[in-house]
Amino acid sequence: MRLVITSIFVLISLITFGQNPVLDDLWKLYQSQNYEEVIKEAKPHLDIDSLKVDLNLLLGRTYTDKGDFKSAIPHLDYIVNNDLNNSWRKAWALGYLGTCYFMLQDYDNSKKSTKKCFDLNVTKNATQYAYKKILMFGFDDFYKDWKIVESDNFRFHFQNMSDSDIDKYISSREKAFKNINEFFASKFPKKLDFFVWDSREDAKKLLRTNLGFADPSSCIVHSHFQQTKGHEMTHVISNYSTKMVIKTGLINEGTAVCFDQTNQDKEQIVKNWIKNNDKQVDIRMIWENWKDYPEELTYPLSGLFVKELINNFGREKFIEFFGNQTYDNAKLVFGERLDKVIKDFENKTNT
Ligand SMILES: [Zn+2]
Repeated sequence: MRLVITSIFVLISLITFGQNPVLDDLWKLYQSQNYEEVIKEAKPHLDIDSLKVDLNLLLGRTYTDKGDFKSAIPHLDYIVNNDLNNSWRKAWALGYLGTCYFMLQDYDNSKKSTKKCFDLNVTKNATQYAYKKILMFGFDDFYKDWKIVESDNFRFHFQNMSDSDIDKYISSREKAFKNINEFFASKFPKKLDFFVWDSREDAKKLLRTNLGFADPSSCIVHSHFQQTKGHEMTHVISNYSTKMVIKTGLINEGTAVCFDQTNQDKEQIVKNWIKNNDKQVDIRMIWENWKDYPEELTYPLSGLFVKELINNFGREKFIEFFGNQTYDNAKLVFGERLDKVIKDFENKTNT
C-alpha cells in the first residue's frame, strides 16, 4: 500500500567536481532542477571535444528527468557509442536509456539497455540502479512465464491466472481506471504496467518488499490479485493530474484510499479504533507525523479526510492543492475555512 518513493538517482553524488568549471556550474544548475537553463547553457559547449561525453550525459539525464524521453535518447546513445573505456558514464547512459525506452513503450530496447548496464558492472550504484529496473520492469527471468495482456489503459502482467479470470480482472480494472480518471483527468506518458502477483511470498522474495505498491513516475503497479481495484492505480493516476512538488502520507494515501473503489465502511473502522484505543484523532498531528500512527487508523481516516476536503472545496481546488500536499499549502489554496472543516471533521469522528 505504501508509496514507493522513486529513488533519486545517486548519479549526482558521483560527479567529481573540479574537473572543469563549465561542467561544475552546469551540474550545479542541474542539481537545482533548473532543466531549461541546463539545456540552454550546455548546448553551446557541445562541440568542445573534451566536454562532449560529459555534456551528453548531462543533457541525456536532464531530458530524462524532465520527462522528454525522446530528446534524451540521442545524447545517451552518443555516450554509449563514444565512451570507449566503458566508464561509469557509459553505465549510467545505458541505465537511463533503459528508462527512456521503457517510458516510450519500447520494451525490447529497454530490456537490452538495462541488462547491458547491469552486465557492464562498472559502478555499484549504476549496477544497482539497473538491477532494480530489471525487477520492477519485469525483465528478470522470474517473469518469463507470466502472461502479458494489453488493454486500453494497461499493460497487464499476470503471474498465474486463468484466461476467463483475466478477462474479468481486466474489465473491472479498466472500469475502475475510467471512474477514477473522470475525477483527475490525467494524461499519461504511457500505459500503466500493472503486475498482478498470485503469490505475496514470491513478490517479497524477489522484490524484497511487501505488495502492493506503485511507482508513479514509471507508471508501474505491483499488486496482489486480491487487492482493492483502485488504491494503487490511484497513486499513478493522481500523480499526473498536476505538477507534483511535495507529497504527504495523509493526502497521498488518503487519496488512494478515497478512490479505492470499495464499499468498506471507513467511518465505522475509524470509530471502532477510537473506541478500542480510547484515543482522539488530531488531523494536524497526523498530517505532520504520519509515520508515528498505526496504518489501521491512518489509512481509513485519511481516506475520509480527503473525501471531506473534496466535498467541501470541490474538485478544482483539490487538484490545485494536490501538487503540494502540506498543511501550509492547503491553507493557502482552501483559505481560512480549512481549519473549521478540520475541526468539524474531528468532532464528527471523535464522538
Ligand atoms: Zn498507498
